Amino acid sequence: MERRYVIAGNWKMNKTPSEAKALLEEIVKANDGKTACDIVLCVPAIDIPAAVEATKGTNVIIGAQNVHFKDNGAYTGEISAAMLKECGVEYVIIGHSERRQYFGETDATVNLRTAQALANGLKAIVCVGETLEERKDNITFDLIAIQIKRAFKGISEEDMKNVIIAYEPVWAIGTGETATNEQAEEVCAFIRGLIAELYSVDLANAITIQYGGSMNAKNAAELLAMDNIDGGLIGGASLKAPDFTTIIDSVKA
Ligand code: PEP
Repeated sequence: MERRYVIAGNWKMNKTPSEAKALLEEIVKANDGKTACDIVLCVPAIDIPAAVEATKGTNVIIGAQNVHFKDNGAYTGEISAAMLKECGVEYVIIGHSERRQYFGETDATVNLRTAQALANGLKAIVCVGETLEERKDNITFDLIAIQIKRAFKGISEEDMKNVIIAYEPVWAIGTGETATNEQAEEVCAFIRGLIAELYSVDLANAITIQYGGSMNAKNAAELLAMDNIDGGLIGGASLKAPDFTTIIDSVKA
């Protein structure tokens, strides 16, 4: 299995369906035919039909920002993997720090959602990362190890081939503060080593590990040039077609 670069946008709670359509058309036009990386846009759930329609037959893939861990039932406000799949979604972000911080997401629910996404043929972008306090307390690696071990508990090596791990230090998300190239590389390398230990060297070499946290048109090239950073999960800068395009163009050939 070949390691793929994946540049994924996380639009969070931004853009109505008509705004999503317009922005996606701009992104599609600017990135037509590019193959150096996979291009994914994780849009708000309500935008998914318009987004899938706007990107049909293009190299831009649509993702969601969350998925529930049950097949169906009394879970008001939630969206199932089958619903996403039927609408043409290919990727789903799981365990974003905003979901952990504001919506009670835990390592246990991240594990359940990941298993459910994979069982339904979705690719999972699983987010891990430490807070500033945890970094200052020097427990970054311990914390990342716990998040990873719990997120992937019971997930087979075969299923892990459909997983991307996004290292997103919480203190760098939406703050304008980016991890240095060395800080980001150090944790991504640690994650790869952990995957080798938990699964195999083959999987560790093949898995895509993204960095996320104020990645932008200016700092992307340096971050993406690091050995263990295979792409980005991008919030703010994915809402501007020119900036997002520059990030895509920063992937080393
Ligand atoms: C994110 O939402 O995952 C993210 C990294 O946001 P930003 O790029 O805005 O920091």
